[in-house]
Amino acid sequence: MHGPNVKDGQVASITTFRGAVRQILRGEVVGARRDVVILALDGVPHALAAGLWRRARIEKMHSVFPATSSSAWLSCLTGADVSEHGIPGVVFRLPGAGLVNLYRHREPLVLPVVGNIFSDAAEAGYAGWAIPGDLHALDCSYVDALLAGASRFPGQHFYTAKPERPSAGMARAVEDAVARCLDNAPARPCLVWCFVEVDLRIHASGYDDEVIAFVQRVDALAQRLAARGAVVVAHSDHGLVPTRHEASIAALLSSVCAEFACSLGGAGRTRWVYVPPRQEDRVAARLRRELPANVHLYGADEVFAPGSLARERVGELVLIARGEQFIVKGGQRFEHGSDTRGEVEVPFAVWG
Ligand SMILES: [Zn+2]
Repeated sequence: MHGPNVKDGQVASITTFRGAVRQILRGEVVGARRDVVILALDGVPHALAAGLWRRARIEKMHSVFPATSSSAWLSCLTGADVSEHGIPGVVFRLPGAGLVNLYRHREPLVLPVVGNIFSDAAEAGYAGWAIPGDLHALDCSYVDALLAGASRFPGQHFYTAKPERPSAGMARAVEDAVARCLDNAPARPCLVWCFVEVDLRIHASGYDDEVIAFVQRVDALAQRLAARGAVVVAHSDHGLVPTRHEASIAALLSSVCAEFACSLGGAGRTRWVYVPPRQEDRVAARLRRELPANVHLYGADEVFAPGSLARERVGELVLIARGEQFIVKGGQRFEHGSDTRGEVEVPFAVWG
């Protein structure tokens, strides 16, 4: 099985996140159990958090491969690796449905029944709440699967609100949403998972002053929530790294798709090619010859566990960008999905 490109033996995978939350729930003394508030900050890497969250206990975790939001959040909340939950990215083949875009797919999504942080919360006597926040922008069965078992506190938009709030207002909006969710919950204690898609801004602007200021403000807001009597956790799915669109790579992929009747799947810096039978060697040879040296080509069995749900859903050839050159959506400057340090290393932080 493909692990992160980063070798760091002591670092736990984000698949241990669920277990870490379960430990926190079990550690609370019966009768005096505090609420547990989890801030899910999409796109915040460990290095940034470690420099700014002075009052938290922070551990480093490694994201899954591909370091794609849909794969990683599901791994965090369920504890299942990509090979087990079978969500390898955004565009992939689903048996019976053909090539789907996960974020537009509304048919029921069959996932292994393994429970998640919300079922653990219920078992521990906690009311499980999700503040979908920026997930409200997605109307798809993936969100239902991700938040299975949680009551939803609706109506909160953070980075998907237009115009975008400055960092101080953004931090206040997150804090208010969590406080109102707790105040309105009919039963306590609560576990509240709140999704904030900082990633939306980072794609366009990188880790600019506004992103840094917001992440910095998380330290104080977490401490205020802790002072109200909550244990506060922050975690993330991946970081982003500078990535620039190379028209020659886009042209090569279009040309290969046209010539060999291939189609593309994946997301961000990991893409795959669905190749018709008996064409694989020719397509691989052409890609190897023409791709830049920092875009690496693999057979799918080399990077996805053979026989796994994920492997069945991806294409036969997998492209992983490990430098700055790749393909990106119009105007974006930062991407993720590959396995470099900046993409893979994420924080697990606890206040209170
Ligand atoms: Zn993400």
